[in-house]
Amino acid sequence: MTVALITGANKGLGFETAKQLLELGHTVYIGARDVERGEKAAATLGARFVQLDVTDDASVRAALAVVGADEGVLDVLVHNAGILADGAVDGPAALRAFDTNAVGVVRVTEAALPLLRKSSNPVVVTVSSSMGSFWAVTNPDRPEFGLPLALYSASKAAATMLTVHYARSEPGIKFNALEPGATATDMTAAFGIGRPPEESARVVVRLATIGPDGPTGTLQDESGELPW
Ligand code: NAP
Repeated sequence: MTVALITGANKGLGFETAKQLLELGHTVYIGARDVERGEKAAATLGARFVQLDVTDDASVRAALAVVGADEGVLDVLVHNAGILADGAVDGPAALRAFDTNAVGVVRVTEAALPLLRKSSNPVVVTVSSSMGSFWAVTNPDRPEFGLPLALYSASKAAATMLTVHYARSEPGIKFNALEPGATATDMTAAFGIGRPPEESARVVVRLATIGPDGPTGTLQDESGELPW
């Protein structure tokens, strides 16, 4: 039995990832910034709930304190919370995008490290995006080339880079970033694109359940490693 925490898991990809990890027998904590939405999602799935706003240090610390008090260990951490930031490109919008998509990864990782170090096979998965891949965004043959999502793209590049650095500084923990595939969630509803979240969640679950010999410091999609 392993213990997993997923941020932003009250809906979308995070919710489906929670569902699939539960089906595999993991103890799953749904992290959500809104108590009502989080408790409802947890009750629907039979998961546990912790209030967790990735932009709020006190909330993050309190959430990991709950997991620590209840379980004493964390085996799987999924950084899933994210925002698209597709409105105006200005300072406040940039701060919001980076606060959630990149600084949130630092806050939650730092708070989780003591519990992850207690696991026999600790794994961290960052749901980043191929929009944060310099290779994809500069490649005219890729769909990312034509998407003007500067703040999302830059903040996801930062999230992927953090994955690389954590993989190096914490060799006992596996850190991988991923592109889940275009998925029909609230985030993409305005574009009318994407496949069902169940399919993309399988990509997250595959990396969340890698064994002790699995990769670390990679960016992957469902086909394997992606160029940076
Ligand atoms: P979604 O349905 O909009 O879900 C986003 C989740 O993040 C929600 O639960 C949201 O909570 C939560 N969240 C936002 N800000 C938060 C904060 N400050 N603290 C805690 N939770 C917060 O979108 P999704 O498509 O499932 O996205 C999940 C992840 O996949 C994101 O990181 C996204 O960038 C990534 N991704 C998605 C796609 C895609 O095609 N959908 C492609 C590549 C990568 P609320 O309900 O409270 O807003």
